Order: sequence, then structure tokens, then C-alpha cells
Amino acid sequence: MTDKFENLKSEVSNCTKCSLSSTRNRVVFGGGNPDAEIFVIAEGPGYEEDLQGIPFVGKSGKLLDKIFAACGFTREQHVYISNIVKCHPPGNRAPSKVEQAACLPYLIKQIDLVDPKIIILLGATALQGLINPNLKITKIRGEWIDWNNRLVMPVFHPSALLRNPDLKRPAWEDFKKVVLKYRELVDPGHYSKHI
Ligand code: SF4
Repeated sequence: MTDKFENLKSEVSNCTKCSLSSTRNRVVFGGGNPDAEIFVIAEGPGYEEDLQGIPFVGKSGKLLDKIFAACGFTREQHVYISNIVKCHPPGNRAPSKVEQAACLPYLIKQIDLVDPKIIILLGATALQGLINPNLKITKIRGEWIDWNNRLVMPVFHPSALLRNPDLKRPAWEDFKKVVLKYRELVDPGHYSKHI
């Protein structure tokens, strides 16, 4: 990865641009392969992520890793993961509009540096924070969005799948579309046991 990426990481790790800086333990910049062709974006770091400084390490993370495995994707090779805000909102509340606005420029720079072909948005906050605050995840999930010359797939957040297992089937249909698009755009020989 480039010096620019490391410089951005170092800048964000000392950031005090919003009030979340006063309650966080660790800035969670991102995780996975910074050269990946798939960039996954969620809402913000949870309790465990805040302690460890790594995205998606709790129950939702384990489920996400299972979904990735079913798709033939690994964090080490195929995906890079980050969030709309890089610091944990206390009590796992949704980040405020002010916090999102303060942090979003970092994410935009990150996306430019990773330069993925595909972006996956996990849940409503990621969808609304990156694309349009008026969009509803229940309406638009599973549909490709063209955003800044990149293809974006909004899907349910893994925590929603844990709360409501009925959402697992539609979520799987959405991830299947990602695998097919990955074969089309990146690697025609990409292996997935299930797709
Ligand atoms: S959430 Fe983002 S803008 Fe706010 S302090 Fe953390 S890194 Fe800075």
C-alpha cells in the first residue's frame, strides 16, 4: 500500500474533529486488504472494535466472515472493511449527522486510495451516509447503484440478520450478485463453493 494510505491512517489515528474522540479507546481506521477490489462499509465501530481497533470482531463480524467464506472471499485477499465513522459512538448509538459529516472525508479518501471496483454498504447508516440520506435499505437493498463511477451494492447489516433470521435469505441473494459481479469485473475464475 502507498505512503498516502499510511499517512491517512496516521492522520486519522490522532483525529479530534468530532466529539467521539473524547470517548473512544481506539480509532478503527479499517481492516482487510487495502489493495482489495471490494470495499465494505458499515456504520461505526462497536464496543469490541473500539477495544481492539479492528472492524467487525464481534458477533456481527463472525457472521460477516461466514458470509464472505460462502462467497469465497477472505479479509486477507478480497475485501477491505471500514465505517462511516472511525470512532465508537457510546452505547452503540447511531452516529449523529455532525459526526458523520466530520468523518466522511476520511472515508472518501480511503475509497479513492483503495480504488475498489465494488462497494458493499452494510445497513441504512452506510447507505444514507455515503449515497443519499433519503434512501431506505429495505427498498433499495440488492440493487446496484452507480456512484462516482463505482458499483455499489446495499445489503442488510449482519446485526439485522442476527435480530431477524428471515432476512438471511434475501441477504444471501444480494451477496450472490456481488460474487457474480466480481467474476465479471475482476476474476472470471473466482471460486465459490455455493455460487
Ligand atoms: S469519528 Fe472520525 S471525525 Fe470523529 S474523531 Fe473519530 S476519526 Fe475524527
